[in-house]
Amino acid sequence: MTLTTVSLWITLLVGILLSIISYKITYNLENQAIRLEQSRATTLLTDKLLLELESSVSILNGIKGLYKASDNVTRTEFKVFTSDYLNSHPAIQALEWIPKITAEQVQQYQQQAIADGLTDFRISELIDGTISPSVTPKPNYYPVYYAEPLKSNHNVLGLDLSSNLARRITLEQAMHSGQPQATASIRLVQGDGEQRGILFFVPIFYASSLSTKPPEEQIRGFALGVFRIADLFRSAQLGLVHELDGLNFKLDDITSDSAELLYQNAEQMNTTPEWTLTNQLDVAGRTWQLSTLASEEYRLQRHSLLPNTVLFSGLGLTLLLAIYLRSMVTREQDIRNQVSLRTQQLKESEARNKLIVDNAANGVLAISGDRTIMSVNPAAERIFDYSAEQLIGTAIKDIIPDLTEYHVHSMPDINISKTGLRKNGSAFPLNISLGTSQSGAQKTLIAIVYDDTQRQEAEQQLRRGMQAAEEANRQKSMFLNMMSHELRTPLTVILGYIPLLQNPERLPTQDIVKQIADDISVSGNHLLSLIDDLLDISKIEAGQMALHTSLCQVDIIINEILQHFDHQAKKQQLQLINKVADVELNVDPKRFRQILFNLVGNALKFTHQGTIEISAESHSSYVKFSVRDTGIGIPEHALNTIFDVFKQVDNSSTRKVSGSGLGLAITQRLVELHGGSLSVSSVEAQGSEFMFTLPTGKE
Ligand code: ADP
Repeated sequence: MTLTTVSLWITLLVGILLSIISYKITYNLENQAIRLEQSRATTLLTDKLLLELESSVSILNGIKGLYKASDNVTRTEFKVFTSDYLNSHPAIQALEWIPKITAEQVQQYQQQAIADGLTDFRISELIDGTISPSVTPKPNYYPVYYAEPLKSNHNVLGLDLSSNLARRITLEQAMHSGQPQATASIRLVQGDGEQRGILFFVPIFYASSLSTKPPEEQIRGFALGVFRIADLFRSAQLGLVHELDGLNFKLDDITSDSAELLYQNAEQMNTTPEWTLTNQLDVAGRTWQLSTLASEEYRLQRHSLLPNTVLFSGLGLTLLLAIYLRSMVTREQDIRNQVSLRTQQLKESEARNKLIVDNAANGVLAISGDRTIMSVNPAAERIFDYSAEQLIGTAIKDIIPDLTEYHVHSMPDINISKTGLRKNGSAFPLNISLGTSQSGAQKTLIAIVYDDTQRQEAEQQLRRGMQAAEEANRQKSMFLNMMSHELRTPLTVILGYIPLLQNPERLPTQDIVKQIADDISVSGNHLLSLIDDLLDISKIEAGQMALHTSLCQVDIIINEILQHFDHQAKKQQLQLINKVADVELNVDPKRFRQILFNLVGNALKFTHQGTIEISAESHSSYVKFSVRDTGIGIPEHALNTIFDVFKQVDNSSTRKVSGSGLGLAITQRLVELHGGSLSVSSVEAQGSEFMFTLPTGKE
């Protein structure tokens, strides 16, 4: 679960909680208002009840006044006096006159009652709820003498109230206190016997009585009001219909320890302490308690829609907030997913790039602003022969010393050729391309390098190959040149003489024929030697030239050769000097002869006056031969090339001296085949000296 999901749930919970708390607060505020209303209703009802009671007591006080005004209030007067009250107070069950009658007066009162038309009047007593004629003689009786309305109270006439404990106690209290007193709730003897009521006694004393006398003696009687509690309540409720609607209430007499229910308007009254209010009333010596209970219905009627509105608005708002947050969370989740997808893609791309960089043949170096190496790839490690750890932190100048700031600033520069330094200090040609990578404020220099050694070598090889091809091409054209010149010349000579010899009848003179034969022989030999040279060089070039060496007395061979050239030398007026004496070497005699033949032949060819001297210098491991002439010499620029095939100092077709340009090439290869070397030193117009060494085979 992400943090945002948690905060979403917290918001939801807090929202719901706040909504419920707001609902509770509003509900409780309304409850307080309802309780206040209930309290007001309870007070109103209490006041009304007290008013009713006071009004009832005031009727009794009225009767008291009547008795004070007259010593003898007749039954009729009593009836007339009370009738108005009875009509206007429906809660009054009876208004009665209870005289105190001594035992002696009983007779008189009975007679008077009979005289008043109450033929069955007699003093009776109440025992266990039933009225029966009085049998217990007493000094004083307190019978109901007048009772109005008579009809409904007829059965209580003559009932001695002191015969019943509850009534007697109240009666005595009233008498002793001189104040109106009420009884506890009693079951009324009148009516169906189920009605509960209370009796109010108002004591009436003889006006002339001395206060020092005991109250039993001063008392004349009691004005008694019998009130039906239910009706009393009904009267009190009048005008309070709205206030009391839905309110349950009950009235308890709590004078004694055990509370006694006087009245309740509901069948059952659950006591919910929270919704129960009580008021106490002092009623004629008794303490009553009025309790009201706000019923569910009462409360519901008075509750407004506000708490529910607050609750549902709060929940609605919370829901909206949750939906909004949810969309935010979803959005955030989406962004998170996208970020992780992009990160994944980036990582993959990075891994791919790393794979490419790591496997690249070229070295890649990241260089910081202060020109130190920050990172390298494996190819860079290979190229410079350093490990990455050794390279990182190193100044770039340490491995590419000639990379200057100029190169860095004149970017983009591709393929600059520089020199790299390996770990062992060896330098190598390096090719470098520079670029920059900007990451924030940091500018990183990226150098892509590769070791140019192999490429340069390949280039050189190519160049050499090209030179060789050019040389081959040159040799080909020189070969063709030579062919056209050297082959053509003797053949032209030979073919030129043939017509002279074709007609036997017109043959030239014998001397001329001999001359022709000599010329043809020279040209033929020249052609032969040319072909021999060609065969030799191609054999040598193909590596097929084999030497057949034997221990030879080379001074004898040299002598033979000089004798061969003797005729020609004399013809050219050149002096042939042989300084070689007694040299024995392991050589191929045919090839040794060819070497000397070429060198001496050349000397004769390119010397017009002076001497040609052949000498040999013996050393421990080799013998150094020299053929020195006083000829035309060789220009310095040609010294390196005269040993090449077909190379001649004068290559023109108009040159004076014939030659194939193969002689020195063959000579050099033959010397080398013998394990020696051929060299030349020459001064133009002064002469040349060709020197060659041959190993003696001794160390
Ligand atoms: P060629 O058959 O043309 O003489 P070589 O290979 O023997 O061919 O000689 C090559 C060239 O070297 C000659 O053409 C000549 O220019 C030069 N050369 C050789 N020997 C001498 C020499 N003794 N004096 C001057 N030039 C010489």
